[in-house]
Amino acid sequence: MTTINSRTHAAAPPLSQQAAASPTLDGQLDVYELAARIEAGHRLTREEALAVLRVPDAATHTLVAAAGRLRQKFFGNTVKVNYLVNLKSGLCPEDCTYCSQRLGSKAEILKYTWLKPQEAVHQAGLGVAGGASRVCMVASGKGPTDRDVDRVATMIGQLKDEHPEVEVCACLGILKEGQAAKLHAAGADAYNHNLNTAESLYPEICSTHTYQDRVDTVGQARHAGLSPCSGLIVGLGENPEQLVEAVFALRDLEADSIPVNFLMPFDGTPLEGTWLLTPLGCLRILALVRLACPQAELRMAGGREMHLRTQQPAALQVANSIFLGDYLTSEGQAAAADLAMIADAGFMVLGQEDVDPNELARRVHASKNRDARQPATGCGGGCASTCGTAGTGCPIGAAGPAAGVEPVLRRRGAGTSESPNA
Ligand code: SF4
Repeated sequence: MTTINSRTHAAAPPLSQQAAASPTLDGQLDVYELAARIEAGHRLTREEALAVLRVPDAATHTLVAAAGRLRQKFFGNTVKVNYLVNLKSGLCPEDCTYCSQRLGSKAEILKYTWLKPQEAVHQAGLGVAGGASRVCMVASGKGPTDRDVDRVATMIGQLKDEHPEVEVCACLGILKEGQAAKLHAAGADAYNHNLNTAESLYPEICSTHTYQDRVDTVGQARHAGLSPCSGLIVGLGENPEQLVEAVFALRDLEADSIPVNFLMPFDGTPLEGTWLLTPLGCLRILALVRLACPQAELRMAGGREMHLRTQQPAALQVANSIFLGDYLTSEGQAAAADLAMIADAGFMVLGQEDVDPNELARRVHASKNRDARQPATGCGGGCASTCGTAGTGCPIGAAGPAAGVEPVLRRRGAGTSESPNA
């Protein structure tokens, strides 16, 4: 069995010293030594990646601390906050097994066609006000028509006019010739298209498009000058070898940002009831991605609340990016709780380094309590907010998805008349 040395983060000398002081021992994975070699330019091998996944639960926080040195080196103590706007929900003709928007999904998600540009920009602006420096504009479907691209280009132009500082990432599915260039010309900074899983597992996950379609779209985006964003959904039934295969494919793709989603097994989808992840296992996966792609923006994405659970702050030690608030079809924890978590873990929100994240959380909290449409949740207090309403509607204490229960379907934000979770 692979074991690791048990040094703690606090006691650890700088990586450069550790490399000389702690050679790899037979049968043991010295995670600090591995991180030091990676810092010096070593490329994680398949054997090392598998050993990372085999780190025992009791030593997983040591692994996180070692991988966290790379996160600190490349991203300091900042957390990039991203905000999702679901431009078009459900009604997809594709059959991705994990997806609540798929063909034949019985999940009772919000279903709506394209938001009007004004509404999309309004929704995005609320995320920016909540601290987001990147807005991800997402639409269901195999891929956009040229008319769809024109529509999204209009939204991007309007959003950039109102918030020139914000990064915009489009996520519209498989692109056709010329569409990436059009999005780039409209002001998009990035394009997201996830590989999701290993090529060897892909035929079991989807039959209506191929893994190669996804690789090609990421390549088109890069070629057009868009920053490539591509990531994973873990917990689909992949084995460790397939997980490493998928992570190394992302490394080969040189994705600038890598969202790691944790399967939310929606009722009414083929993967309903699939619970294969543990919180510490999720930490090992994030550490693996950090060690394989040390300079990539690593985002703990959908499903973090229900799978990482109390380990979310520990995950921030290796991931440097999160989505704020809700996801495409499900509700995340309260946006104010996201910001409070960042503050409590000692991090700053990227682009808002001069503002205490607790202050951002208080602003979100206060704006929620000013909004009569926000349902009161009765948090029970314990909040440092100065809004004067703690205990009568505090979103900091509002429950997100509880551990091991079904995803909470989104009923607020884009496509509804309710205030978003931002
Ligand atoms: S992941 Fe995208 S392409 Fe696949 S079913 Fe869902 S919305 Fe459609």
